[in-house]
Amino acid sequence: MIRRWDNFDLGGRNTFRMRVCCACYIEYDTVEDLRSIEPCSLPQPLLCMGEGSNLLFTRDFPGTVLRSCINYMKYFDVGAHEVLLAAGSGVKWDALVAKTCADGLWGLENLSLIPGTVGAAAVQNIGAYGVEVKDVIAGVTCLDLQTRGKVAFKVGELRYGYRDSLFKDPAFKGRYVITGVLLRLSRVPRPRIGYGALKEVFGGCAPASPEAVRQEVIGIRRKKLPDPESIGSAGSFFKNPVVSALEFAQIASGYESVPHFLLDGGLVKIPAAWMIEQCGLKGARRGGAAVYENQPLVLINASGMATPEEILALEGEIIGAVRAKFGVELHPEVEHI
Ligand SMILES: Cc1cc2nc3c(=O)[nH]c(=O)nc-3n(C[C@H](O)[C@H](O)[C@H](O)COP(=O)(O)OP(=O)(O)OC[C@H]3O[C@@H](n4cnc5c(N)ncnc54)[C@H](O)[C@@H]3O)c2cc1C
Repeated sequence: MIRRWDNFDLGGRNTFRMRVCCACYIEYDTVEDLRSIEPCSLPQPLLCMGEGSNLLFTRDFPGTVLRSCINYMKYFDVGAHEVLLAAGSGVKWDALVAKTCADGLWGLENLSLIPGTVGAAAVQNIGAYGVEVKDVIAGVTCLDLQTRGKVAFKVGELRYGYRDSLFKDPAFKGRYVITGVLLRLSRVPRPRIGYGALKEVFGGCAPASPEAVRQEVIGIRRKKLPDPESIGSAGSFFKNPVVSALEFAQIASGYESVPHFLLDGGLVKIPAAWMIEQCGLKGARRGGAAVYENQPLVLINASGMATPEEILALEGEIIGAVRAKFGVELHPEVEHI
């Protein structure tokens, strides 16, 4: 079934709660429904959207939002150790993680409580606590809006990187609508608990089950991140900047210690949250927008009524302050529409 609304208020459909309208909003339940939609007949441009948890609408959207409500989850046994899980792109990501953990399957537990849909998870290559979804994706099925044909990609074809994929490449963006994702899960314990807070919690002891890891991840996230039900945000607003060894040495010379992660090729990743805090902007409030007190990487709609202009002004202030203090350019992780 297809449901269509014109001049649709997106305020309740994006986690930042930006009160903007789109010219047309369409929900579809199946791949065939999607295929029956004639893209050229719709207000342009087209935007695929899940729960809008990685988007900042900067103004009214003149085109059509396409929302997948393709909802299925189906296991396929592949031997004693492995299970494949096929899921529709409209499934809520955390509902999928909850199910796999309850079923005793390993692979997704570190990615618990991330807002959004299964389809967008494959676009974003979502990640948390040392795991990225590309580590468990086997393949992705799409509808090609240009040819109206079904396309199946293997994980190796999807050019996954840090919060990046083929679907974000401007050459392909808007062309492929993800309809389903195939995930490779393990019956054999494969805990990934070597990262940050999880390492501290388990202290080197093997967790009893994926559910045990999930509950710890949920506990850690609830302390650090705003609950989308009560505070509007889009999670981490900025990407963590990557600098050369020389640039890092220059920055580090001014501090007793600088948190960092060493990358291949002598590059160094510095937490943007630390830089924002050093600029004195942790908790800063500008009109309805603010830097989240518990995690400065997150910008929030503090009043519940913040406008896109207020969020954009705070974003600009942070970028300018980090540039002036460290000579480093911050780039938003949140997609601006
Ligand atoms: C409180 C909070 C915490 C967060 N924590 C994390 C975290 O730990 N790790 C992390 O990686 N992210 C995190 N995020 C960001 C966000 O949850 C993810 O990026 C999520 O995958 C977005 O899902 P969505 O359904 O809301 O997608 P949207 O924001 O609606 O869309 C994201 C992108 O996917 C595209 N898209 C959506 N559906 C489809 C489809 N069917 N076909 C093709 N393209 C599509 C959109 O066009 C857009 O480019 C967090 C966000 C919030 C609000």
